[in-house]
Formats: sequence, C-alpha cells, structure tokens
Amino acid sequence: MDIESLKKEIIFYGQEIKRSGLVFGTWGNISARLDDKILITPSGIPYEKLKPEDLVICDLNCNVIEGNHPPSTELVVHSEIYKFRSDVKAIIHTHSIYASAIAVTRKNIPAIIEDMAMIIGGEVPCAKYAFPGTSELAENVLEVLESKNAVLLANHGAISLGRNLKEAFNVCQILEKSAKIYILATQIGMPKPLAIEEVEKMRDIYLNIYSKNEMIK
Ligand code: 13P
Ligand code: ZN
Repeated sequence: MDIESLKKEIIFYGQEIKRSGLVFGTWGNISARLDDKILITPSGIPYEKLKPEDLVICDLNCNVIEGNHPPSTELVVHSEIYKFRSDVKAIIHTHSIYASAIAVTRKNIPAIIEDMAMIIGGEVPCAKYAFPGTSELAENVLEVLESKNAVLLANHGAISLGRNLKEAFNVCQILEKSAKIYILATQIGMPKPLAIEEVEKMRDIYLNIYSKNEMIK
C-alpha cells in the first residue's frame, strides 16, 4: 500500500472509531506503519475535520519527517510497540467506556469469550499507570504486551493492535464487547475464563484459517 492510500484509510478509521463511540471529542489516536515510517494522527484535531495532509509522518525514533501539526502526544507508545512487535502494522488508541471502566480498576480482562481469544489472543493485561504520552507509559505497555493485540491503560483507556487498520479496528470493537460482557457477567456470578489450551487453539485457527478470508490484503 502507498502512503496516500494509507492516509485515507487512517482518516476513514478515525471517523469509524468516533461513530462507534470508541472515542469522544479529539481523544484517542491512530497510526499505521509503512516500512520504517509511522503515519500518525495529529494531536487534538477533531476526527471529522482530518484531511490527508494533516497526518504526520515520523521515523521509528519519533522524529517528524513531514507534517503541518504536532504528532499525537502518544507517538512514543506507538513507536515503541512497532519496535517491539514486527507483526504490528496498525495501532488504535481508544477511550471506550467499558474497557476504561475495567482500566480504572487496574484489572486484566480474562479470556472469556471466543472472538476475543481469536483476535486478541487471550487475556487483556492492564498496564501499570503512567502519565499519558510518556516513555514510562510505553515501558509499562511493553512490560505486559507479549503477543497480545490489546492492552488496557490504567485510569486512561486502551490500545488495540493489528496487522492492518481493519484488523486493529476489529480488535477495538471486540475488546469493548468483551469488556462489556465481563462487566455484565460479574453481575450474575463469577465469569469462568476459557482454558489456556482452548485459547491457543482458537488463536491458531484465527491466524491460520479464519482471518485469511479477508484480513490479509
Ligand atoms: P492526542 O490528541 O495528542 O493524540 O491525545 C489524545 C489522547 O488520547 C492522549 O492519551
Ligand atoms: Zn488517551
């Protein structure tokens, strides 16, 4: 994919996360990696006003290569994830309600449901609290990330990852759905997590069969 098409895709998914209620106002941010470059949303600009020329291009060390605005304040978290995980090509940071509700308790979301196990890869860990936009926050995310596709940020929100923007957006939605199910289930009784072997099997099916239908372009 070329840079111009990727810019248009970032703008499309910015509008989607806003429309789906995964972010509010100008909060949250989106990036995609193209080779050794990161394309990221600018800081504090409404998603509905974003144009391709507003996106910022940086290198993996957070140096701005091109852009008319400052990059997202969470650039360091995005760049550290890209350096840590070569499979990740897109990152979406959201402030969605149910994931944030669990993040304020600073608890993990156990692997409780099938689509979550498939696309996220199991339990969603909660990274230790750090001030937004800091290298400490990036370190805390990497400390718990492993091969998962989502992490909660204590008292803040969530980060979802994918092999492309479409997959990262799916992760945001499944994460929010899983958080909601977990909260609802705890009203009824103690949710029972899936066994680790079941989670591994589901993840394997997702990666090797299920996602091949449409995810990998
Ligand atoms: P930016 O507008 O700088 O991307 O910040 C939003 C946010 O969610 C910070 O955590
Ligand atoms: Zn945020």
